Amino acid sequence: MLLTNNLGYPRVGPFRELKKANEAYWAKKISAEELQQVAKSIRENNWKTQQDAGIKLIPSNDFSFYDQVLDLSLTVGAIPSRYNSLLNKLDNNYSLDLYFAIARGFQEDGIDVTASEMTKWFDTNYHYIVPEFTKDQSFKLSSEKFLNEYKEAKELGIETKPVIIGPITYLLIGKEKEVGFDRIDLIDRLLPVYEQILGKLADAGAQYIQIDEPYLALDLEEKVKALYPSIFEKLNAAAKGAKLIATTYFEALQDNEDIAVNLPVHALHLDLVRGENQLDTVLAKVPASLTLSLGVVEGRNIWKNDYEKSLAKIEQAVSALGKDRVWVGTSSSLLHVPYDLDSEKKEDTLPAEVKNWLAFAKQKLAEVKDLAVLADDDADAETTERYQANKAAAESRRTSPLIHKPEVKTRVSNITDDDAKRTSLFEARKEAQKAKFGLPDFATTTIGSFPQTKDVRKWRADLKKGLISQEEYDKAIAEETESAIRLQEQLDIDVLVHGEFERNDMVEYFGEQLAGYAFTQYGWVQSYGSRCVKPPVIYGDVYRPADMTVRWSAYAQSLTDRPVKGMLTGPVTILQWSFVRNDQPRSTTTYQIALAILDEVQALEKAGIKIIQIDEPAIREGLPLRKADQQDYLDWSVRAFRVSSSNVEDDTQIHTHMCYSEFNDIIRDIAAMDADVITIETSRSQMELLDAFAGEFKYPNDIGPGVYDIHSPRVPSTEEMVDLLRKAKAVVPAKQLWVNPDCGLKTRAWPETKAALKGMVEAAKILRAEA
Ligand code: GLN
Ligand code: ZN
Repeated sequence: MLLTNNLGYPRVGPFRELKKANEAYWAKKISAEELQQVAKSIRENNWKTQQDAGIKLIPSNDFSFYDQVLDLSLTVGAIPSRYNSLLNKLDNNYSLDLYFAIARGFQEDGIDVTASEMTKWFDTNYHYIVPEFTKDQSFKLSSEKFLNEYKEAKELGIETKPVIIGPITYLLIGKEKEVGFDRIDLIDRLLPVYEQILGKLADAGAQYIQIDEPYLALDLEEKVKALYPSIFEKLNAAAKGAKLIATTYFEALQDNEDIAVNLPVHALHLDLVRGENQLDTVLAKVPASLTLSLGVVEGRNIWKNDYEKSLAKIEQAVSALGKDRVWVGTSSSLLHVPYDLDSEKKEDTLPAEVKNWLAFAKQKLAEVKDLAVLADDDADAETTERYQANKAAAESRRTSPLIHKPEVKTRVSNITDDDAKRTSLFEARKEAQKAKFGLPDFATTTIGSFPQTKDVRKWRADLKKGLISQEEYDKAIAEETESAIRLQEQLDIDVLVHGEFERNDMVEYFGEQLAGYAFTQYGWVQSYGSRCVKPPVIYGDVYRPADMTVRWSAYAQSLTDRPVKGMLTGPVTILQWSFVRNDQPRSTTTYQIALAILDEVQALEKAGIKIIQIDEPAIREGLPLRKADQQDYLDWSVRAFRVSSSNVEDDTQIHTHMCYSEFNDIIRDIAAMDADVITIETSRSQMELLDAFAGEFKYPNDIGPGVYDIHSPRVPSTEEMVDLLRKAKAVVPAKQLWVNPDCGLKTRAWPETKAALKGMVEAAKILRAEA
């Protein structure tokens, strides 16, 4: 059998045990010892599971209470100075409490420090705590987590491979907190700490050490490229004979191939899922001393591996390098997939046929082992049987009528440029819409959801458990919707929303009603800290069997003379927040969803809903990691949005909404979406974001820059909002401006919501009077 290599394992626990323990600890319901105990048993379980599965290179130090990047920042002593006040307060400098304070902020006993910034880990939905660096930044080995976990496993009789994010990647994922230096220049100061880390691991007996350098698969400045050989030279020397594995993932090496294959390491890990085609060129360059770890089992998605395809790659490598120099592994850490498919028992939401196409973390370990055995040509009867079963599953996926709906495929291939274009240009539509709605400048609206109170969530839970009937549930939702409409009328908001009380989540709600979707019971994936998401699974051609939102939107509209906005999630966001098919391009799936959303848009229009918002908060995050791939993505995602929103009358007003990101670099693409109105998150950046919309490029359609932050219960004063609107007016003509909060209000409570919206409407009126 070839050597098996797993890059990392999920750590929230199969049933989110760590999430629950963390939250109990934060609420002071359990002690630090109890929390440590939960963590310890998760680690032990993970290691044993991997050992039982036949994995040889089992990762350690991939566990984290909150985030592995924050773990590393504490390990190298990179703690932002604003947390200094906590060092005395919290018993020991590097305690769990300090760690959580950096992650979540700390407000107690007169101390008030904010949490550190979070951002997405490459193009995943995992968020890490951004390291902050200053010009005179120093580093010092400050925690031995990496060593403790290695030893902990060893005591259990399990030899592990410690995992650590490499020094170059660590600096690059961080941020300069002051001007006048380049964080990569801190490498010489950081390196000694890494040397200590590697030395300590070697002394403790570590045989292999995984150094994650995903940046090696990204676009790099020349200066950074030049650093890699010398830095790895030093790391290798410090490792005293322990074998280093330079680990890349999420992209192909491309222009960095020569650097990567020539690093002074024992092994180089390649992501052969994302970088499917890099094996040929890499094999041609590999020096005799290098072992290749082939990441063939996908760490980012939940599909069964295609053994035939993977074996072809493995055999290609074996015939070039020999069995000893080829390992079989996961493409990336399995952090991004759920634990165990065997826990899924609900046939109605995850049919047996669909389940047979899937593999979660535990199943993926077995796949790695199977492939390692199969590639060695002396597979036992059971493995051979599994190979046959794997082929059968792949074949059923290629042909299943559950997946393949010829009508849907035809409809996508028949999309024309006209389908992606409104009949008239924006100016003409604006006239038609003005005649239809007669809205003032600085028209007021909200982003869609109103508070999801305990009651609202309880109704939904009770309905699920069968404690209340559908009629009782509907009645409660109807009453909540009506009171939201009355409130908005009373507040004198111009364009109302129905409140989204009937929705659990902006993607799941649509997924549940679209064909081609399945759902899991325990398919949790860590998003950040204790927060996990359960992405729905798109397994087949997507279409819309029936109306999805018309009922509640039409009901809300029937209650009032003011326009009520229909509220939909856009195709790109639905794609982005689901597990997606790997048997067709992402763009094809997105177009299928776009057509389903278009059907809903037209149904709403027919029902008299003439203002329709299609949320696309996730458009930015789908951007590919390599620059060369980005424009293609933007082109099809913008076009998919247009397909979902263009085939409507001139006087139907299409809104879109975006948040969580910076838009400066994609502003022309956002404009190309051609929504009549865009509402965007801006208040935390004090309208700086508007620079993107009114800089060199003038955003042509209407804009609603958020005038207050909905992430906090704080009620902004009317003056603050007036100020922000004046700033906006200075750069965007008044006739283009709308007034709204940053995002939906579902996480807020009613009292602050009412107070803030009252001030917001006042602010809009003040601005109108000034015009
Ligand atoms: N319409 C959604 C809401 O108001 C938008 C949420 C979002 O942008 N994330 O909740
Ligand atoms: Zn939002």
